[in-house]
Amino acid sequence: MRTTVGIIGAGPAGLLLARLLHGAGIDSVVLEARDRAYVEHRQRAGILEQGTVDVLRAAGAGARMDREGLRHDGIELRFGRRRHRVDFPALTGGRSVMVYAQTEVCRDLIALRFAEGGPLLFEAEALAVEGADTAAPRVRFRHQGREDVLECDYVAGCDGFWGVSRAAVPAGVSRVFERTYPFGWLGILADVPPSHDELVYARHDRGFALLSMRSPSVSRLYLQVPEGTEPEEWSDEDVWRELERRLGTADDWTLRRGPVTQKSVTPMRSYVHEPMRYGRLFLAGDAAHIVPPTGAKGLNLAVGDVVTLARALAHRKETGSDELLDAYSATCLRRVWQAERFSHDMTALLHRAPDATAFEDRLQLARLERITSSRAAETDLAEAYTGFPLG
Ligand SMILES: Cc1cc2nc3c(=O)[nH]c(=O)nc-3n(C[C@H](O)[C@H](O)[C@H](O)COP(=O)(O)OP(=O)(O)OC[C@H]3O[C@@H](n4cnc5c(N)ncnc54)[C@H](O)[C@@H]3O)c2cc1C
Repeated sequence: MRTTVGIIGAGPAGLLLARLLHGAGIDSVVLEARDRAYVEHRQRAGILEQGTVDVLRAAGAGARMDREGLRHDGIELRFGRRRHRVDFPALTGGRSVMVYAQTEVCRDLIALRFAEGGPLLFEAEALAVEGADTAAPRVRFRHQGREDVLECDYVAGCDGFWGVSRAAVPAGVSRVFERTYPFGWLGILADVPPSHDELVYARHDRGFALLSMRSPSVSRLYLQVPEGTEPEEWSDEDVWRELERRLGTADDWTLRRGPVTQKSVTPMRSYVHEPMRYGRLFLAGDAAHIVPPTGAKGLNLAVGDVVTLARALAHRKETGSDELLDAYSATCLRRVWQAERFSHDMTALLHRAPDATAFEDRLQLARLERITSSRAAETDLAEAYTGFPLG
């Protein structure tokens, strides 16, 4: 099998890249290890930055998002049973975010990919990228029990944190920057309308809590839990009671309860692999970097990477110049590090480390007081949350 761009992974990065390349008249083949149902139901991100919304619309993938997504003009911070709203448009000159689940973004892009004639191969697991530093890279993969080879001009490693692409970069070339956190997020999905019309980020002495949503009738809620916690350790009743404690306010706000349909634990990690390019292999999205979800940046970073890559490949096709491909890694990493910084700062601002001292608790509260009393500090948060410029 032969194509111009071999794309490994049909997450948001791989699917959007395929769509953008199609728009530029560049052919590609997408290989995805899992089946279609798995990819379309995997619960993950839900906040789209303004820039991501604009890209999806321009790619012709925004129709259902515009109908069913929820535009949010702010978030609420809670600490000491107080509430403070951060008003995005007022602080950023009109920017907002969109609540539209990653599952839906993937569903829309998969439908478009099949409508335009594919190729998108499910249950096609890439085994290795070979010859990344040559003019003829290849992806070895297994599909329907048979091994095959995809010959390409370029390979896009969009296969997430646990994929195989990154392993094709020799150890002597790679540099990894990493931090793990001594806690994770216990997330539930519940069939109940959200108890607030915007996301609520709560700092509490017992740990962080987040009230979020997937739709007007489905709530997504999270609790900070110790690293290594298993979802079964928490009964539904325990989860609701703890959410009530951490999200509680001094006024008459109450948390609506409903049937829990999913429960899972997400570990927290910051990770950057440099460079994001080796020869003709380009890493994009979680294959190259991970952020803790507190800043809602993971999916948006993946979108930024593939916009940059698609533009560089289109430039190569039109002009024959490698200039933008050569700049790919540095261009992406500038934005990646801003998102890493913001995600780390939001995590440190709102979570309680198991070994936190009374001094650190006071500093955390002082930072929150600063954000709620200084327009400059609040603007910094609002600008980062609504997104850094793409590309
Ligand atoms: C549990 C969880 C919760 C999250 N919550 C949030 C959130 O609230 N907000 C936020 O912004 N971000 C969140 N994220 C991060 C966000 O979901 C990711 O940043 C985003 O999915 C990155 O997209 P991607 O396409 O780079 O990678 P992925 O979505 O991981 O897609 C990679 C794809 O590659 C496939 N693949 C892997 N290996 C191979 C192989 N060898 N061959 C072929 N295919 C392969 C995988 O099956 C997968 O479909 C969360 C992540 C997780 C894991």
